[in-house]
Amino acid sequence: MSTSQIALLASVQQFLDRQHGLYIDGAPCAAQSENRLTVWDPATGQAIATTADASPADVDRAVMSAWRAFVDRRWAGRTPADRERILLRFADLVEQHGEELAQLETLEQGKSIAISRAFEVGCTLNWMRYTAGLTTKISGRTLDVSIPFPQGARYQAWTKKEPVGVVAGIVPWNFPLMIGMWKVMPALAAGCSIVIKPSETTPLTLLRVAELASEAGIPDGVFNVVTGSGAVCGAALTSHPHIAKVSFTGSTATGKQIARAAADTLTGVTLELGGKNPAIVLKDADPAWVIEGLMTGSFLNQGQVCAASSRIYIEAPLFDTLVSGFEQAVKSLSVGPGMSPEAFINPLVSRAHCDKVQTFLDEATARNAELITGNRGPDGKGYYVSPTLVVNPDAALRLTREEVFGPVVNLVRVSDAEEALQLANDTEYGLTASVWTQNISRALEYTDRLQAGTVWVNSHTLIDANLPFGGMKQSGTGRDFGPDWLDGWCETKSVCVRY
Ligand code: NAD
Repeated sequence: MSTSQIALLASVQQFLDRQHGLYIDGAPCAAQSENRLTVWDPATGQAIATTADASPADVDRAVMSAWRAFVDRRWAGRTPADRERILLRFADLVEQHGEELAQLETLEQGKSIAISRAFEVGCTLNWMRYTAGLTTKISGRTLDVSIPFPQGARYQAWTKKEPVGVVAGIVPWNFPLMIGMWKVMPALAAGCSIVIKPSETTPLTLLRVAELASEAGIPDGVFNVVTGSGAVCGAALTSHPHIAKVSFTGSTATGKQIARAAADTLTGVTLELGGKNPAIVLKDADPAWVIEGLMTGSFLNQGQVCAASSRIYIEAPLFDTLVSGFEQAVKSLSVGPGMSPEAFINPLVSRAHCDKVQTFLDEATARNAELITGNRGPDGKGYYVSPTLVVNPDAALRLTREEVFGPVVNLVRVSDAEEALQLANDTEYGLTASVWTQNISRALEYTDRLQAGTVWVNSHTLIDANLPFGGMKQSGTGRDFGPDWLDGWCETKSVCVRY
């Protein structure tokens, strides 16, 4: 276990000590609701801050602020180049405050400070600058039409993209800043206003980033943050009559609730949901690449990654070699607090989630599954689960089909690649998958046949701002990222002119 921890910035402590409210109309403000929610440090189990538990009236205030900002066109009415410049300035401010944001994220979420720096801040900056660039690329088309009436009339027709309006962004706890910005940035690039709700478990970084947005010059009311429970605050936000689109990332169960509520008002939804993602390892794969790629693919952020590889199907000739390779790798992982840069495995996000992950392992143990475990966390404090390999689990175990969302991965021997493919696709999810082989023909065949929104060859969990991402089956609807990302945040208006 590693113990040396980085020193907290004074600005981080000052932020934690604040009486946090909501962020509405370009400034922090007190919530009407007097209920408070506690933010816990997963490494110690200690309370580090409290935030407002917004009521439906608070949510209404935030949505109406966003609505006013949208209808008076104080953001959408700026030129695309203006919006791009302000969004790039926003990215620069996030970069300047990168260490502060990374420390806050590790404190509230538990992940390694190295991952907070590299992903929550570093990757977020890539996405911010990519999306800022899309602002000046929004365009429609001119279209020849064949309208025959009145005889001899001539027409010019074109399409233009317009921002949809006020967006509700609902964010999970696994990458609070990065996923939050995957909602804020396309909304702002398209010219929308947004009200964003972080998870009640990890609300701090988005509250801080909203202040940087104002400092960058994003007009008041365009970017609002409400904190609170899913059942009250989240439900009030997603069902508000002035919301034009819901961008949701979270569990499949909550995504279905949101889709049902949206059906009543025909509100547009993008749903990025859960996964039970397979990796297929063919017998000619390079074992070193497999171990390196799937250790990260499975254990990054303690497996609390929607895209994580959690079922690894290995062709029989390579099975024993890989099981011993994974065992060695898992046992070498250091476990400790996120503020200790050398600890690769850190606590899970909350007591409740830690207990939930443990129930999967308890069931496996009770049914005599073969478990290979790595190091334990420090005794007595923190929400630790040891990294665990489950060798050839019985199909009846919950962890074979359900999303564990923890540091647990199944290693399954298959007689051939066809059996692997059949097992890989035998799931209600369809988020990501990977195939590991040195045979390019077989690799391409499996990219066709795997039912997933993203399929990697000889890698897993690597995403990019320019590559669309999203789920098939019950892993969601819609795609984020890529050159067409803003289409989901715009209406297409057709204009037809007789001349
Ligand atoms: P969750 O569904 O419990 O909560 C997500 C968010 O929804 C939270 O902000 C929560 O407060 C809110 N919420 C809950 N009930 C609501 C309701 N009725 N109306 C509106 N909002 C409501 O998910 P979680 O536990 O925070 O996150 C983990 C899940 O997220 C996993 O299933 C994971 O796979 C998924 N996830 C998916 C992706 C992806 O891109 N596909 C990315 C990250 C996480």
